[in-house]
Amino acid sequence: MSRPILSLIVPVKDEEAAIAPFVHRVVPILEALGPQEGPEWSWEILFIDDGSQDRTLAELILANQREPRVRAISLSRNFGKEAALSAGIDNVGGDAVVPMDVDLQDPPEVLGDMLAKWRTGYEVVYGVRRNRLTDSLPKRLTADLYYRAHNWLSDDKIPEHAGDFRLLDRKVIEVIKLMPERNRFMKGLFAWSGFRQTAVEYDRAERAVGETKFNYLKLWKLAIDGITSASTVPLRIWSYVGAVIAMVAFAYALYLIGRTILWGVDLAGYASIMVAVLFLGGVQLLSLGVLGEYVGRILVEAKHRPIYVVRDRIGGPDAPPAEDTFQHTPIA
Ligand code: UDP
Ligand code: MG
Repeated sequence: MSRPILSLIVPVKDEEAAIAPFVHRVVPILEALGPQEGPEWSWEILFIDDGSQDRTLAELILANQREPRVRAISLSRNFGKEAALSAGIDNVGGDAVVPMDVDLQDPPEVLGDMLAKWRTGYEVVYGVRRNRLTDSLPKRLTADLYYRAHNWLSDDKIPEHAGDFRLLDRKVIEVIKLMPERNRFMKGLFAWSGFRQTAVEYDRAERAVGETKFNYLKLWKLAIDGITSASTVPLRIWSYVGAVIAMVAFAYALYLIGRTILWGVDLAGYASIMVAVLFLGGVQLLSLGVLGEYVGRILVEAKHRPIYVVRDRIGGPDAPPAEDTFQHTPIA
């Protein structure tokens, strides 16, 4: 099997109902790109089963039997979408690679535009959502806030309203593979890697089947991962906050000493002492918390564990036939 021109990476977690519709919709679109792309044209779809608990894996095996250019890697448990994307990037063959959601929120029709821009020499063609009307208002607002905060704090600017849906040239894929970190905030890694980038606009559709796997808690964790991996400003800012507070405290101390010398000791001042103690206590706890976020991440990185664990491979060059996938060697 020679290297395909376009590879799609599709992470899936509990998406049994979404696999077949995705394949049905995307494969004809990929095939229709043939005339535009010329006789060399070839493609593959690589699903990453991110520890699904439902029939997702069975659906993937079925999809591979029907269409061998659809293959899959099954992870040993749920590692999260970012780790699943890493598994895809490490195992994908294409000259151009596009991560896509299985819920068809990323319209596959845009792939043609992406390839066309890639042919003109761009190494990254990211999809920008023309509108986010399919997202709820709170989600739009928090997303907006996040992009602003990230780009204000970090030198690696991530394009606003661009998701993981983007075409990446093989060169970019090889750079991402070299990145050793366990914390895989993909958008941050893409932004860091540079290269000639351009955008294509698209309308984000409603989720076709199933429901979102991201609640606000997961998104909050993702946001913290993103900022801590791209910026050390939250860590350094406390020296400046501390310096300002120390200067104010020094001025206040001078004033208190002067007042005591001039007017003698007075015991009033309970309120100001409490305010100072509570305020400083709060600032210290906050800065310790930020420190903890970073130290915790250093611990995770220092352990050097793998980012994901592969359990099975379905289809592809060196995989056993799908029927054999579950026939493990019996323990003697
Ligand atoms: N996903 C995954 N692992 C997870 C959570 C989600 O592989 O732990 C996949 C999911 O199956 C889907 C994609 O990531 O293909 C995007 O998820 P979702 O549509 O739930 O996110 P949203 O579009 O709501 O942000
Ligand atoms: Mg979705």
